[in-house]
Amino acid sequence: MADASFDAVVIGGGQQGLVVSNYLAMNGMSVGLFEKHNELGGAACSSPVPAAGFIGNPHAEHLGFWNSPCNQDFRLHEKGLNFIFPEVMASMAFTNEKCFVFYSATKWDKETGAITPQMDIVMKNINEVARISPKDAEKLAKLVEKDYWEFAAALFLHLYSPPPLPGEPDYIEMQLNNPESFLDPRYPFMTEYEIICDLFESPELQTYCMAWNHYNGVYADDVAPLTMALLWLSTILGTAGLACAEGGTHNVAHALQRALAEQGGQFFVEADVDQVSVENDRACGIRLADGTEVKARKLVVDSSGAEEIINRHLRDVSIGPEIRRKVNKLRHDRSQFFWGHIAFHELPAYRAASWNPDVGKARWLLMGDPDPEYIFRDYRYQTQNIKPGHFPTKMYPTASVETQWDPSYGPPGKHLAMIGSGGAPPASWLNEREWILVKQQIGDLIATEWQKYAPNMTRDNIIAFNVGTPYDHFQKNPGWVDGDVQPPAIIPSQWGKNRPIPELAQYQVPGIKDFYLASGHHNVGLLGCSGYNCYKRIAHHLGLKKPWEGRMI
Ligand SMILES: Cc1cc2nc3c(=O)[nH]c(=O)nc-3n(C[C@H](O)[C@H](O)[C@H](O)COP(=O)(O)OP(=O)(O)OC[C@H]3O[C@@H](n4cnc5c(N)ncnc54)[C@H](O)[C@@H]3O)c2cc1C
Repeated sequence: MADASFDAVVIGGGQQGLVVSNYLAMNGMSVGLFEKHNELGGAACSSPVPAAGFIGNPHAEHLGFWNSPCNQDFRLHEKGLNFIFPEVMASMAFTNEKCFVFYSATKWDKETGAITPQMDIVMKNINEVARISPKDAEKLAKLVEKDYWEFAAALFLHLYSPPPLPGEPDYIEMQLNNPESFLDPRYPFMTEYEIICDLFESPELQTYCMAWNHYNGVYADDVAPLTMALLWLSTILGTAGLACAEGGTHNVAHALQRALAEQGGQFFVEADVDQVSVENDRACGIRLADGTEVKARKLVVDSSGAEEIINRHLRDVSIGPEIRRKVNKLRHDRSQFFWGHIAFHELPAYRAASWNPDVGKARWLLMGDPDPEYIFRDYRYQTQNIKPGHFPTKMYPTASVETQWDPSYGPPGKHLAMIGSGGAPPASWLNEREWILVKQQIGDLIATEWQKYAPNMTRDNIIAFNVGTPYDHFQKNPGWVDGDVQPPAIIPSQWGKNRPIPELAQYQVPGIKDFYLASGHHNVGLLGCSGYNCYKRIAHHLGLKKPWEGRMI
């Protein structure tokens, strides 16, 4: 006999598990959410790093979660989740002491979710590009005139919809077939480098785009899914809305948890789910590692990663061998990076401030040499071959000083920056001892790089740092397979209707009724898309509420 029972049992208490749990509870279902760690949130967490008194977000940091309709559906702003949109969204300081500064051009109404682009700021951003390259600015102005907004809306719809079934619109395909679109029909087959060189002339803008996308799992020589390949465009125009959660990313999880509790949902931590129980081809519950049996009267939703679902939770269930084979061959060799924090005394004083004094205020600041040829030919090779004492000859680090827009991230008068370096070897490419040495060296290296652009970032100015490696990320959560933080790798064969594999892309496992998949392995980032899109399929099958009817997503 079961030890507990719920209408819906949800495995995994990261953002996706929390999102789908809330929508199920909205239908009056009793929901039991099971999380193996000692708190909910998964990558939506914050902790006292790199020193006591500071709050750092060791994982998800730059948030697009405000886009998710669950903000309005569950009034998360009344449950402690507030987003801050720093005035400067992105910037890049170059070795030639020039810089790009891109201002935030999005207005968001938390009550309605309405998003309004600020055209005066979009034009200001284009003028910033014109100071370095009038030709590139002209190109951007043309893109804005020529259906950029249609493309931006299509991206949004693409992310917050399940992959299209026959008869449903394919928003990206529609853009490619639109003769008015700025999209060249060759783009889906071109490498990142080819697309960027096709659009822009200046080494500075080419470098910015490629360096930025290293943090999104796209290397310059990749043919990336179009959604990801052009992601930098919205940061240049200022419409990406890279927000910060006031008080820390953990507030995303806390607000979702409060919403769930208010609807009667229950959650259990330190509850490691070992197996999904399947009887007569129907998911009817779960078994925890400690032997506890939980019955699901209506459905089970699994938001752990594809490998864990197939190899562990369904290990004794008969499913197609092709599914097992394909899941175990997923590629996880792109979204690895170094990601951590530096606590320090005095704000960095950038050399490039003489070009634009706002350079240091950016939500996402990059630094580097404007050398697109190097990035294309050497960077990927060098960064994926990092070993102790052996790092790329040129680095493209990032630093975002959080305390500038949210002083609660540090003690009064002190500062905290999220720092990182895009591109890194997968966890299994180095042994444990090598990773320990790399971890010791990478923080120093990023700090030394930072000094080239902001000379006051000396050792005396630094209080402490802690930088996570792909090995650390994999140790924290084996679902981030090989330290891939947006698993599986973002490549066309693993995107859209192929993500994570074609058989699982509709959030179900063929042959198992009442069993749904909701993990980030279906989508990307902390946007709440997989949980929401999974619920869209559940609602259709079970005739549940469809809050998206009558609105865009
Ligand atoms: C270092 C790092 C930096 C990132 N930076 C950003 C960023 O800046 N912006 C952004 O948008 N995204 C970022 N991401 C990606 C983003 O965090 C993920 O896409 C997102 O968290 C995926 O949500 P999820 O709920 O699918 O997975 P997770 O957050 O991984 O949550 C899954 C949960 O399931 C639990 N679980 C797994 N197996 C079991 C089991 N057997 N039983 C019970 N519970 C289980 C896990 O413990 C975990 O809590 C980053 C990720 C990492 C790792």
